[in-house]
Amino acid sequence: CGIVGYVGSNLAYPVLIDGLKKLEYRGYDSAGVALHTGNSIEVYKKEGKVSALEGSVYGKNIQATIGIGHTRWATHGEPSDRNAHPHSSNSGDIAMIHNGIIENYAQLKNELLQKGYTFKSDTDSEVLVNFIEDIKINNECSLEEAVRIALKRVVGAYVILLLDKDLPDTIIAARKGSPLVIGIGDNAHYLGSDASPMLAYTKEVVYINDYELAIVRPDELVLKNLGNERITPFVQKLDIELASIE
Ligand code: GLU
Repeated sequence: CGIVGYVGSNLAYPVLIDGLKKLEYRGYDSAGVALHTGNSIEVYKKEGKVSALEGSVYGKNIQATIGIGHTRWATHGEPSDRNAHPHSSNSGDIAMIHNGIIENYAQLKNELLQKGYTFKSDTDSEVLVNFIEDIKINNECSLEEAVRIALKRVVGAYVILLLDKDLPDTIIAARKGSPLVIGIGDNAHYLGSDASPMLAYTKEVVYINDYELAIVRPDELVLKNLGNERITPFVQKLDIELASIE
């Protein structure tokens, strides 16, 4: 029910946990993060409160300056550790968080099952991350291109954030029907379902529109439509009064 992301020069984990707590008011049943450490993607997720997630991460590797975080409001699959986000692709190379519903997930899942894909959760979201991986492998294309191709076939509402093992400094994000805000910091970018997770760090934000894809690095925010054409980000200065009631 809430998403956050951070890519910059500081540790991502505290920013993500703090951001998830700011989104707690939306309600949720589980929480999780994925961190790109430079060599690997570490996924930590837990049913229950963000504080339960923090407890389970204690002592684990959080040495990463890029990561994504999620609070889940279950629509497909009971609330559980297994169904919590992020979800990893079969190869383990892609981690994704998703808010929303993939309406044609059953059909996509059948196609993937026939190709030998396996699933660890009952979610529609795990279908999408594997659908994206399958396109990436078959087309030998970038994650960005695979997301673009995949979303043309997806029916439903979503905001998705993805990490790729091959891209240690990039978050790929896309939305349709679910909110996504990107904050511009000092050699850093912040992503959120609303501006509340980033208010402590920046007042400059870009509201992403439906059918837009964002390629987010510490020093760069590239926005494109699903036709691979670049869009100039419209940067808004947040009114502090307005922002605090969001
Ligand atoms: N449909 C997804 C699930 O059930 C995402 C739910 C959400 O928006 O949190 O896992």
